[in-house]
Amino acid sequence: MNVPFVDLKAQYETIRFEVAAAIQRVMEATAFAGGAFVAQFEREFADFCGTGHAVGVGSGTAALWHALQAFDIGKGDEVITVPNTFIATAEAISLTGAEPVFVDVDPKSLLMTADNIEGAVTPKTKAIIPVHLFGRMVDMDPIMAVARRHHLYVIEDACQAHGASSRGRRAGSIGDAGCFSFYPGKNLGAYGEGGAVVVNSNEVAGRIRMLRDHGQSEKYYHTAIGWNDRMDGIQAAVLSVKLKYLERWNALRRKHARIYSSLLSTVEAVRVPPEGAEEEQVFHVYALRASSRDELLQYLSSRGIGCAIHYPVPIHLQKAYEFLSLRAGTLPVAEQSAKELISLPMFAELRGDQIRAVVRGVRDFCSRPKERDGTMRLPSVANARP
Ligand SMILES: *Cc1c(COP(=O)(O)O)cnc(C)c1O
Repeated sequence: MNVPFVDLKAQYETIRFEVAAAIQRVMEATAFAGGAFVAQFEREFADFCGTGHAVGVGSGTAALWHALQAFDIGKGDEVITVPNTFIATAEAISLTGAEPVFVDVDPKSLLMTADNIEGAVTPKTKAIIPVHLFGRMVDMDPIMAVARRHHLYVIEDACQAHGASSRGRRAGSIGDAGCFSFYPGKNLGAYGEGGAVVVNSNEVAGRIRMLRDHGQSEKYYHTAIGWNDRMDGIQAAVLSVKLKYLERWNALRRKHARIYSSLLSTVEAVRVPPEGAEEEQVFHVYALRASSRDELLQYLSSRGIGCAIHYPVPIHLQKAYEFLSLRAGTLPVAEQSAKELISLPMFAELRGDQIRAVVRGVRDFCSRPKERDGTMRLPSVANARP
């Protein structure tokens, strides 16, 4: 049976008429760039996140860049983040002129830890960007405590965590700003590109609203050099439709993840993602760790099961960041996880027979005749801490 990694069509089928009507309304109003539909979605999304404001922009990458800009971060500054994330987190830092400083992650959760930040703070450090990887929230209180002690801004990269919460607080609402992507494959995805910054500060929200629209304070009066990063009306209207279903979709992802984990936790050659205690994860990605990851990926692909690797190369080892001269071995936990992680199909509309086919695939792979080279070893526990 073929199981796609994600199935955007399956979701579209469930909302097609509502989406068509919403797009029609935007056309009738010719509210294409910014405008009333964007303002409406911004209000709804801010309410959803529990923040004072949401500012719609062109992408998640743009959201991160705007948040950094709004806090005046640029040349000569350092921003601490993690290497096991999508490259956009680091790109946004670099594009402001600041330098990303990578810290290793917790061996179990693979998320940023306050301990590792403490050692990376220098007089140049201005901000921290924790990443809620795969829809699991970073333990924010210790991070906020370190940040307050050193007077650093905290910008949450919540691009994979729409609707995740920890002790009743939503992803994006805990730091000084939270950044979201509405790339189609995200938990809340537009039908094109989009992103948002959520903030409580009126001043910061106002600054980002100005910067995304050419630094205009009123039409053709420019108080700063900005950029064109407005959200499209059509995307906002689609997002307003989809936001109503987000919690239901996230609950389904959690349910699928529980089934995967319960059926795969006894399989020796793979490790299921650790559960978080006081948090509601939203499983943007459901990733196993496997010592023979590449063979498993090939095996599942040959059976028509769509898998992915998030991410094969940690950012500090990417060619684009060669100039930082960070050699392999500098951030061992992230590096080891990049060799072991494999993401299984995950989307709200995943059916029971599809989940069973994926589980059967993983189990069959693991019960193949043992190979002499020892590829059936338990995945190595990432235990190295800097
Ligand atoms: C998707 C993503 C981004 C970038 O979002 P775009 O909308 O694609 O620009 C940034 N950070 C993380 C962690 C992401 O997953």
